[in-house]
Amino acid sequence: MKEEIKAYDNVLALIGNTPLLKLSKVTSNLEGNFYAKVEAFNPGHSAKDRIALYIIEEAERRGILKPGDTIIETTSGNTGFSIAMVSIIKGYECILAVSSKSSKDKIDMLRAMGAKVYLCPAHVSADDERSYYSVAKRLHEETKGSIYINQYFNELNIEAHYKTTGPEIWEQTNGKITHLVACSGTGGTISGTAKFLKEMNPDIKVLGVDAYGSILKKYHETREFDSNEIYPYRIEGLGKNLIPTATDFDAIDKFMKVSDEESAHTAREISRVEGLFVGYTSGAALQAVRQYAEEGEFTKDSNVVIIFPDHGSRYMSKVYSDEWMNDQGFFDSVNIEANQKVEV
Ligand code: PMP
Repeated sequence: MKEEIKAYDNVLALIGNTPLLKLSKVTSNLEGNFYAKVEAFNPGHSAKDRIALYIIEEAERRGILKPGDTIIETTSGNTGFSIAMVSIIKGYECILAVSSKSSKDKIDMLRAMGAKVYLCPAHVSADDERSYYSVAKRLHEETKGSIYINQYFNELNIEAHYKTTGPEIWEQTNGKITHLVACSGTGGTISGTAKFLKEMNPDIKVLGVDAYGSILKKYHETREFDSNEIYPYRIEGLGKNLIPTATDFDAIDKFMKVSDEESAHTAREISRVEGLFVGYTSGAALQAVRQYAEEGEFTKDSNVVIIFPDHGSRYMSKVYSDEWMNDQGFFDSVNIEANQKVEV
């Protein structure tokens, strides 16, 4: 009899079913049990693989996409990489309108994955014709046989996490999860995961993470758009300067804002202390957990699942560059451990 060969058909079969990792050292001084859902284990190294695959396959199911068609998106990098990856396997063209705030690593990676990249200025309003939203919309109108993923305003973004991330966490924790902590950008991850988990157990608390300089927390509390909340910040993929419809604000119990500086140091600490090489927003998520803990959010019986959205390799020229950290003034603080400060 022929030996069975255990192999996956292609990279798309590796999307999802990411591991849940018990955190020990970085949370050792906190009350409760803490677990990271490590989305860097997706083949595209981020949670965005899930939505790219789900949205594209949904368009196929609906008969909207045919071979050779074009997929267009605005992206800070991760979603673009995932769409480019899915496009390669499925035979689509991939066009990406990318914010100039994105790291050079990310942009080079998109090009390496065969995507056509349009760089757009980061600090213009969404309705400015140069914004990546306007550019993507225009390209969609001009390109025959194209779809626009529009992740900030696409309900399927929520659905992808409702169908995958939520059930995985429920199963991995054997239904014992008490708190979900997740960053919010488009809001798809937190909203879809929360929706599923709350259907299973409405007592699960959903704690959002937002950035200083973003509108989300204030909007959640007041349902009003306060433009005073908006100013430039460094963390990529977290928070927003508009209200995405891919965020279900009712599914989120609270938001916590985190700073660029503390999030950067916390990301570096996770890598150095847990041996898990994570991206900037994973640092933001753990930083938020620490701030939530300070507010007495957890008890010793809490089972807290923290979503770590992507991999550290995407931030070599930023968070993991001592020069960049120094340029931001992130080494100026007196509280930083000696081994974090490196001469540059
Ligand atoms: N972290 C990173 C690195 C991201 O790119 C994103 C997506 N913008 C998020 C977190 C937030 O995920 P979501 O868009 O699902 O809210």
